Amino acid sequence: MNRAMSQTPDGPTADFPTDLSTSCWLTVVLATPGLRPLHYLLPLVPGAPPEFPARGSWVLAPLGRRTLLGVITAIHTTDPGEVAAERLRSVDRVLQTLPSLTDVTLDLYQFVARYYRRPLGAVLATTVPPYLRAARHHLPTKKPSLVERLRTRPLETTATHDEREEAATAISAQSAPQPVWPPLTAAQAEAVQRIKRCLTYPKRRPVLLHGVTGSGKTRVYIEAMRALWEAKPHAQVLLLVPEIGLTPALEMRMRSAFPTVAQTSLHSSMGDAARAQSWLWASTGQAQLVMGTRLAVLTPLPALAMIIVDEEHDASYKQQESLRYSARDLAVYRAQQEQALVILGSATPSLETLYATERGRYLRLSLPEQATGAQRAAVALIDTLKDPAVDGLSGESRRAIEAALSAGSHVLVFLNRRGWAPVLGCEACPWTAVCRHCATAMVLHKQKRQWRLVCHHCGTVDAVPAACPDCGAADLTPIGRGTQKIEATLKETFPQTAVVRIDRDTVRSADDMDAVLASISKGPPKILVGTQMMAKGHDLPGLDLVVIADADPQLVHPDFRAPEWLLAVLVQVAGRAGRHHHAHGASAAIAQVLIQTRYPQHPLFQALLNQRADDYARTLLEDRRAARLPPFSHMAMVRLSDTRQDRLAAWAMRLHQYLTQWIRIQADAQAQARAQAQAKTQPAAQPQGSIGEASPSSQPAGFNADDGWHYAHAYPPAPDYPERQGLRLRWHMVLEAPTRQKRALLAEAAEDFALVNPGVDAQIEIDPLSQS
Ligand code: ADP
Ligand code: ZN
Ligand code: ZN
Repeated sequence: MNRAMSQTPDGPTADFPTDLSTSCWLTVVLATPGLRPLHYLLPLVPGAPPEFPARGSWVLAPLGRRTLLGVITAIHTTDPGEVAAERLRSVDRVLQTLPSLTDVTLDLYQFVARYYRRPLGAVLATTVPPYLRAARHHLPTKKPSLVERLRTRPLETTATHDEREEAATAISAQSAPQPVWPPLTAAQAEAVQRIKRCLTYPKRRPVLLHGVTGSGKTRVYIEAMRALWEAKPHAQVLLLVPEIGLTPALEMRMRSAFPTVAQTSLHSSMGDAARAQSWLWASTGQAQLVMGTRLAVLTPLPALAMIIVDEEHDASYKQQESLRYSARDLAVYRAQQEQALVILGSATPSLETLYATERGRYLRLSLPEQATGAQRAAVALIDTLKDPAVDGLSGESRRAIEAALSAGSHVLVFLNRRGWAPVLGCEACPWTAVCRHCATAMVLHKQKRQWRLVCHHCGTVDAVPAACPDCGAADLTPIGRGTQKIEATLKETFPQTAVVRIDRDTVRSADDMDAVLASISKGPPKILVGTQMMAKGHDLPGLDLVVIADADPQLVHPDFRAPEWLLAVLVQVAGRAGRHHHAHGASAAIAQVLIQTRYPQHPLFQALLNQRADDYARTLLEDRRAARLPPFSHMAMVRLSDTRQDRLAAWAMRLHQYLTQWIRIQADAQAQARAQAQAKTQPAAQPQGSIGEASPSSQPAGFNADDGWHYAHAYPPAPDYPERQGLRLRWHMVLEAPTRQKRALLAEAAEDFALVNPGVDAQIEIDPLSQS
């Protein structure tokens, strides 16, 4: 009897007579959004002992007329019987070129699929680079396949590279030039010590590195990595950065810190083949340091031991389309699952992270001072009702800019609105320019000396009409102010000074940003005008004055996260000022931040004035607790879209009615169960956990009054802003539940409704960041 021996399949049985088995059956998940797992046949070599592929192996498999990349999730030795035998197709080949997914990585992907309520194929499609998903790149012609060639190319370290370049001097890895670093500050040293201690525990809490801007968090990451590699030379580190933060400067800093460590980067603006190459280096374990944006969080890393999430509060960690995951949350989950250490770094931690820290789930390490010894910038509020902002600048701001420039300092004017003016209106009637595509206000821009109307939602560009389309009047007026207009004002007011605008119209890539920053550091002092792009961690030596031109619109924004975001952005922007002054150095002037506002008494501005941003964040957290908003409840968003508004609205109303009733039924059933069990069961506190705790718990549900179904809620549906995108209209409905488990059940109820009421496109987003 010839039986499977070493290679035991995961299938239901390994006992079968080989003389009958010329095939085995595979469950394959194709790396394509929207597909459920499919079954395929795999022919076995006749006569030989059966060689089963491993779970996690990659295959090319036919679907219709296409050939797609997929992964084996199960192997069966008997027919799973879902498809008529004659219609079952065979996989084209099992790929040896791609490293198989480990069980822990497959588990991670399955968790992501379950938690974000998407098919596993959508998770694969998100993580596997497009280049590797193309079947033709795996097919050998006469030469090895393109993927094979990428896979076998070695990843060089700076040291090996230098060795070849300077073969004559033969610099060895050990003697590679080490940069000279200033000694760690006391706070940095303490943080590094505590992280080292964490590294010796197998199970440890996530670490929040809470350091003011300029406190030297990057240096702490570097020392943490160094400690890790001293203990485990082959360990892999994943360093996540927000979108724009991935600058060549960071890569260079890491290369000079670790010349003998193999490093690579992963982000969406790389070329297709380069991204595939990086993914292969990462997933074969060759790259020890993988730097990347949010998409890197799902990369297979066989020796993962540390994940660092820099600027963890940054909204760009949230993917806003198809698989709407949070890379920050997944980093925490993944680290715990793989027993890696996760370090979240921020000057302004998200309230979710702050809450986890206050409950002791995360370890907080703080860096309260700037590493260079500079003093924190002084904040002053300018009441624009008393000192009006003429053309966007109050008298006091103008005088301060003048003084800063003549003292040899750069100036940053912060205004978070691109373009010339946010609205173009008619002087004679109520007409304003709106996008013909999505019906939102068109923003007036000046492009190459031409006036243009630009839609910031969909990108539509129109000419400015010669006269009002409604009443024919010739006088159209810009209303409000954007970065272009304030740039013009500054040029007029300070004709001797160069004015540099930094927003998405002038800076489109990390390379652009580096070029702009390099140009600023040369020559005489300059005035910078920037949007929140300037908030992200760029070092700007010689900047001593920041003017916040107008943050009031964000202050009164209806989204419940608006104050948290405004606080973070203002703290970050203010942190650009005075990063390089030594308290007793040549220039002892304290840097200054001026905030122009109509609401100087607002507690957010008062907190900035008194340098108590952290206290204010705690106040915001208490507000969330009182209002039972996240992180004290768990949200989902049903996103609806259709081509007809009447149908969409009616469907949304019916869904709302259904869910409201469904929740009431759960609440009633729970109340009944509680009444029955009251005598027997003691109330058991249910922990609210990390995102990993979505699976049903074994405790009787709902015996903690706080977790009860009567705290679940389906909010009335509302149109998105903008409602229209081309031919489609979009609505949304917010769902709220006291626990993740109840949120999952509520989302499932919404999905069930959509299943039996087809017609309108409905997608569920878990942990939405924005309210529309
Ligand atoms: P953060 O990311 O916390 O805002 P960075 O890591 O960018 O801060 O560091 C801010 C500045 O302080 C950088 O110019 C860095 O070179 C400098 N720096 C970091 N650590 C030290 C130190 N121990 N002594 C002196 N300067 C330091
Ligand atoms: Zn008009
Ligand atoms: Zn538009």
